[in-house]
Amino acid sequence: MPTHIGFLGLGAIGTPMARHLAIPGFALAVWNRTGDKATAFAAAHPARAASTPADAARGADVVITCLPTSREVEALLDGPDGLLAGLARGTLFVDCTSGDPATSKRIAARLAEQGVAFIDAPVSGGVAGAEKGALTIMVGGDAAQLDRAMPVLRAMGEKVVHCGAVGAGDALKAVNNALLAVHIWSVAEGLLALSKAGVKPEVALEVINASSGRSNSSMNLFPERVLTRAFPRTFRLALLDKDVGIAAQVARDQKVPSPLIQLTAELFRAAHVALGEQADHVEAVKYLETMAGEEIK
Ligand code: NDP
Repeated sequence: MPTHIGFLGLGAIGTPMARHLAIPGFALAVWNRTGDKATAFAAAHPARAASTPADAARGADVVITCLPTSREVEALLDGPDGLLAGLARGTLFVDCTSGDPATSKRIAARLAEQGVAFIDAPVSGGVAGAEKGALTIMVGGDAAQLDRAMPVLRAMGEKVVHCGAVGAGDALKAVNNALLAVHIWSVAEGLLALSKAGVKPEVALEVINASSGRSNSSMNLFPERVLTRAFPRTFRLALLDKDVGIAAQVARDQKVPSPLIQLTAELFRAAHVALGEQADHVEAVKYLETMAGEEIK
C-alpha cells in the first residue's frame, strides 16, 4: 500500500518539495489556495489536485503544510472545508512552514484532541536545495513521530535533525535566518564603507572570502546577486522579516539579552515595508543603499 500524502502550499519552495513526493510508493494529493497551481501540478506529475484542504487531508497518512506563517496553517484547520474536517485519527501532520513555536504548540494541542500527531519540520537550503531534494529539515516533536515521518522527509531532504519538542524546529529555523539577515546587512555595510574608501567590492570579497569574515552571504549571495545586480526572487523579504521577528520573540521569551537580533528585526521590518511584499530577501541591501545614497559598486 502506498503512503497517502496530502501536501498543502505550492509556493516557491513548496512546489519543488512536493515534486519529490510524486514518486512510486507515495500517493500524493496537492492543494493550493490559488487552485490553478494545484491543477497544473497534477497535470505535470502523478498527483491528484484536491479541491479543499479537507479533501487533501481525507485518506492521508501524512499531511504536509508549507505556508508563509503559522497563522495561515492555523487558519486552514477550521470550517466545513478545513483540515480538521478531513483528518482521521492516527494521521501525522508535518508542518514545513518556518513557523513560530507558540502557534505550533497551539496547533499540536488542537490536533491531539482529534488523535492527530504534529511535528514542526521547517527547512533550509532554499529553492535550489528543494529542487535537488537536498534540504536540511529541522524537526520539533516526538522522536516516534519523526520516525514515522522519516521516509517522507528523506524524499525531500538530505539532512533531518531532531531538535527537541514541538516548536524547537521553528525556533532553530528562526535563529538560523536571523543570522542570515545579520550577515546580509553587515556585509552590505562593510562593502559600502570600503567602496567609499576606494576599495572595489570584488576586491573586498576576494579577501573577505579567503579570511575569517566570510559567510554564505559574502561567498555566494553577494557575488551572484548583488554585484551582478541580478537580485533574483527566490525567498521573499517579507518571509525573512517574519523569521527574524520570530527569533527576536524567542530571545525575549527566554529573557536572553539580544540587542543585535532585536535591531536586525527592526531593520528588516523597515526594509520589508519600504520594498513591499514581492521583494527578495537580498534586496534588503537596496534599502541600505538608499539610506547611504550610494550603490555597492
Ligand atoms: P511563497 O510566498 O512562495 O508561497 C506561499 C504559499 O502559501 C503559496 O502556495 C500560497 O498560495 C500559500 N498561501 C499564502 N497565504 C495563504 C493563505 N492565507 N491560505 C492558504 N494558503 C496561503 O512562500 P515560500 O514557498 O517561499 O515559503 C513557504 C514557507 O517556507 C515559508 O514559511 C518560508 O519562510 C519557508 N521557506 C522558504 C524558503 C525559500 O527559499 N523560498 C527557504 C526556506 C524556508 P497562493 O499560490 O494562492 O498564493
